[in-house]
Amino acid sequence: MQKLRLFKSYIKNKKFGKFVIFDIRQLADYTTIKAGGPAKCFIETPNLDILKDIFEFICKNNIEFNIIGNGSNLLISDKGFDGAVISIKNIPKRLYSEGNYLFVSGNIEVPHILKMCQEYQLSGLEFLNGIPGMIGGMVEMNAGAFDCSIGNVIKEIVIINENGELEKISSSFIQFGYRKINIKKKNYIIVEAIFKMKKESQKRIKDLCDKYYNNRSFRFLLDYCTFGSVFKNGEDYYAGELLDRCGLKGYRIGNAQIFEKHANFIINLGNATSYDIYKLIKKMKKEVLEKFNIVLEPEVRFWGDFSDA
Ligand SMILES: Cc1cc2nc3c(=O)[nH]c(=O)nc-3n(C[C@H](O)[C@H](O)[C@H](O)COP(=O)(O)OP(=O)(O)OC[C@H]3O[C@@H](n4cnc5c(N)ncnc54)[C@H](O)[C@@H]3O)c2cc1C
Repeated sequence: MQKLRLFKSYIKNKKFGKFVIFDIRQLADYTTIKAGGPAKCFIETPNLDILKDIFEFICKNNIEFNIIGNGSNLLISDKGFDGAVISIKNIPKRLYSEGNYLFVSGNIEVPHILKMCQEYQLSGLEFLNGIPGMIGGMVEMNAGAFDCSIGNVIKEIVIINENGELEKISSSFIQFGYRKINIKKKNYIIVEAIFKMKKESQKRIKDLCDKYYNNRSFRFLLDYCTFGSVFKNGEDYYAGELLDRCGLKGYRIGNAQIFEKHANFIINLGNATSYDIYKLIKKMKKEVLEKFNIVLEPEVRFWGDFSDA
């Protein structure tokens, strides 16, 4: 509370009030699963300088924070998140090429990128077609499909570090894992990614985009409120297959349901609570552990307290 008071007076003194909503009632609207409670504050700035200033203050004062992109991989507790949520959605959008390099600001989504890739005749990111994230979130998650992941194409990223400075990090200093990265820093915001692409004809790029999109077994999921895969696959198993063999397709708690066409997805049928969704995740994990002695690892990221669920 003390820290929040300090933060409020900093925001007031700096006249940043219009970029911060205090006591935001629900974060559900900022997620694709459409569930989640309040947050102490929500920050959305129109330019990088203000964001740098605020982020430096947050880090220096150890204020708890989380960054949100498109919210397509998040489950936020109904009790909410007891800290600051930072969105980079409104920073200036930049997308341009120099030679074979593609520069993309962290708030840009896949359809726009792929459209420009065709225009610039640059190939390499087509496999992202159909993933509903923003570049910042996709880099943080090392998003991927069809055995390709975004880390394979990154040359460097630009972050705002905890001193509120822009810092470039070359891909050789980034560890890209399965739906995670490690840049050996605790506090950062990814604001840009630079990709090493290949020259290719417009037609070939368009064909690849279509091929990847049409081959996505869960492209129809875009019509539902969901956060994509609940669990990661293992080296020798597909989480969806194990869950299917547990007979969980269609299983429901409240208005949260395991998707009938693919057991590694949960959909919100309307006003599902995060607790219902979390309970479903616990059920899925328990069934697979009991039947196959395998501990599934969630792909979705959790914010806030789920201890009551
Ligand atoms: C229908 C559907 C299909 C999907 N298919 C795929 C798929 O094929 N492959 C795949 O990999 N994923 C898939 N996903 C999951 C999701 O889209 C990806 O994980 C995506 O990378 C998340 O991006 P986002 O912007 O929504 O991030 P968010 O969900 O907002 O955030 C995810 C994580 O990244 C962090 N983060 C977000 N922005 C930043 C930033 N600028 N700087 C630092 N950290 C940040 C957040 O704090 C959080 O920890 C799918 C999701 C849905 C709903």
